[in-house]
Amino acid sequence: MAGRSHLFIPGPTNTPHEVLSAMHLPMEDHRSPTFPNLLKPILADLKKIFRTEAGQCFVFPATGTAGWEIALTNCLNMGDKVLIYRFGQFGHLWAEAAKKLGFDVEVHQVEWGKGIPLDHLEARLKEDKNHEIKAVLATHNETSTGVTSDIGGVRKALDAAGHPALLFADGVSSIASIEFRMDDWGVDGAISGSQKGFMLPAGAAILGFSQKAMAAIETSNFPRSFFSLKDMAASNKDGYTPYTPSTPMLHGLRKALDILLDEGIDNVYARHHRLAEGVRRAVAAWGLKICAQPGFESDTVTAIVVPADKDARHVISTAFNKYQISLGAGLSEVAGKVFRIGHLGDMNDVSLLGAIAGVEMAMLDNGFDIKPGSGVAAAIEYYRSTAE
Ligand SMILES: *Cc1c(COP(=O)(O)O)cnc(C)c1O
Repeated sequence: MAGRSHLFIPGPTNTPHEVLSAMHLPMEDHRSPTFPNLLKPILADLKKIFRTEAGQCFVFPATGTAGWEIALTNCLNMGDKVLIYRFGQFGHLWAEAAKKLGFDVEVHQVEWGKGIPLDHLEARLKEDKNHEIKAVLATHNETSTGVTSDIGGVRKALDAAGHPALLFADGVSSIASIEFRMDDWGVDGAISGSQKGFMLPAGAAILGFSQKAMAAIETSNFPRSFFSLKDMAASNKDGYTPYTPSTPMLHGLRKALDILLDEGIDNVYARHHRLAEGVRRAVAAWGLKICAQPGFESDTVTAIVVPADKDARHVISTAFNKYQISLGAGLSEVAGKVFRIGHLGDMNDVSLLGAIAGVEMAMLDNGFDIKPGSGVAAAIEYYRSTAE
């Protein structure tokens, strides 16, 4: 088909042309004396995105899923108890990963559409007088439901309980897009990946660890090899990696960091909020609901609930086959009940209006009772009145 196909899935996201160009280069010698000139500034600049001065950032040739494993297996001991709230598919998968690795996983179910219940967490931590819970696993942005949890609130709950557990946050679909403050929130392990807010292809786990987490490595008895943070830190110190890095990925990351830091991280957050708000207004104008309950709305992805007599999968297939746009599917418990619009990364008003219009056409084609143009009109009004 002629024209461009657009990704409105919450990852992989659209890669800016400058990033693609930066990656298109000959292979190079990763043991050369000049290689540290590439890696060291990247690791330093990542700290500005993770908002940490005290912590350290890392890039592993892997994906976000490996980030979960790296945090768990480097900073904890075999069989340790970890606490997780499950309110979507990614929290579910993280809990399952921890179980497979032999951890004692305490899973609390939360209604999909809500985030971490802070009062419950604080009470549970206070009850754990012997400090058996060694880590709290917190999904910052649950990509399957479009729910953002309050990670600063998780830190407050830990502090209110005087609990020493490590705090690991899954920021795969939040870091580099919406507010994430590793130091202010006392996050010990911050997990992200290359293909969402960082606007790159999949293939890098991008991570931040606090000094407390790095100290915990020294006493951990968990076996690890490829995913050893200690080995990575030792090589990174001199600007190298323990094994062959993806040099095109690092050049792409260099360019992506330049773009993000040039815009300014606070401006990046504000842009995502504004874009998301336009989508939410469109959904309201269609007379539909989003999966996230008030106070939990994500600024990177919106899950839209279809009426009970409709199947969201039909909207997604019509959108793809007829209009060349990719939407996110409903996963697991919400399969067929929601479709998702990813609005993170390299995104602006007019691109996103393409998604809103395409979704509207696909819903009309599937017999949805919506007024043609209503969502687009609501978003247009909002974007026009708030454009700078
Ligand atoms: C995408 C995503 C992951 C998984 O990342 P992969 O790169 O696919 O391994 C984990 N957590 C969240 C919240 C995500 O959005």
